[in-house]
Amino acid sequence: MQVCDLGGEPTGGNLTELRYTMQKPYGKDIILEKCQSASARSTLAVRIGEKMKESARWSKIIPIKAKSQQKEVWQYNSSEGTENYNVDVRLGKPLDFLAFKSKRMGAFKADLLAISKSRKDVFKNKKNLEHVKFCPVCGYDTESSIEAVNIYNAIYRQCSNCAHYFVVNRPSPSFLESFYSEDEQYQGPYTDKNEINIRVLNIVAPKLDWVIKQFKRVYGREPKSILDVGTGSGHFVHLCRERGLKADGVELSKTGIEFCKNNFNIELFNVDFISEWSKFRDYDIICFWGVLEHVPYPCELLSAASMALSGKEGLVIAEVPRWDSISTAVQEVFSDSITRHLDPLGHISCFTDTSLATLFRDSGFDITAAWYFGMDAYEWSIQLSNLFGKNKVNKKMKELMPIFQQTLDKAKLSDEVVIVGKPSEKAE
Ligand SMILES: [Zn+2]
Repeated sequence: MQVCDLGGEPTGGNLTELRYTMQKPYGKDIILEKCQSASARSTLAVRIGEKMKESARWSKIIPIKAKSQQKEVWQYNSSEGTENYNVDVRLGKPLDFLAFKSKRMGAFKADLLAISKSRKDVFKNKKNLEHVKFCPVCGYDTESSIEAVNIYNAIYRQCSNCAHYFVVNRPSPSFLESFYSEDEQYQGPYTDKNEINIRVLNIVAPKLDWVIKQFKRVYGREPKSILDVGTGSGHFVHLCRERGLKADGVELSKTGIEFCKNNFNIELFNVDFISEWSKFRDYDIICFWGVLEHVPYPCELLSAASMALSGKEGLVIAEVPRWDSISTAVQEVFSDSITRHLDPLGHISCFTDTSLATLFRDSGFDITAAWYFGMDAYEWSIQLSNLFGKNKVNKKMKELMPIFQQTLDKAKLSDEVVIVGKPSEKAE
């Protein structure tokens, strides 16, 4: 057994101070520990006992001709045999780009100036940063990781074990905590009153419909309750309640909490889900929409969800950015004009299917569904507009974007995926 310290601030080294210790399913791999002191962040102890790389363990059985709905088998191979996960896959999502992104396209130059300056300032000041010694997903030593791209002085590397991408000189947990709780600009796009209906109709409703469909498929009944962790401004919680579900949200951002109170009359929980998970055992579904890529240790959040859902019929849902996408390819070329996707504050992680599968499995979930879609056509379009002048390019691209994106989604070249996991049957 090899135990690795995953970095972060020192925990004091006193095991009696651990808030919890979690034994992962299968009796191997990961023990999660957290210090009681509020300022100390987590230390993750990881055992890497077997030599075969995670990226080599995973394989997929997929139809040669892709369909918008298809069945896939994701396989995990080890010396103990093969684990098969039957995954219900959806490719593509209709999106009214014009309704949703017109304003942002017009504001691209201004957004770019603000974002590039703020990121360069953060990543040039070493006081804000910590060196990541071990992969945030699998705990493998980052010495053997490979540099992928440098954006605003933030360096993305790829784990040589699980294929996960992460910012190796990442902002420290204390910096991130105050950034998300105080920064108004980050919540900006989500706290536009005029966009409430567009956002709910275009972004939130299709996701809620799909989540409910997945729960019915897995458990044969309607879900009654949903918890949205990192809910932002509360649009998702609002729609859930409109649909008659018991729904609550957990959020750190003061701007998000205020917006939600003022516009939806919903009080969000301003608590740390990782330490307070036992207060949230009364939900059928726990969602992390665009959350895992922002935190130093995504496995902490999923493990907390795993404990909150243990022993009951439940689903965990996570939407994350994907590395293997056209947006990544475009941004590698236009690395000095990035406002989304590989924006290193706060996308400090970017997932591959392998790293996601590893994360879910190690946190005690069986993957049961995946939905691929993205904004790659939009990314391509804004970079061309920035290069050639927006009037010439934007008009034509706006018409072509939905068609372009549909093709990319079908080929799984899109920059987002939503994964659904159910508590592992092996853990029972
Ligand atoms: Zn890894």
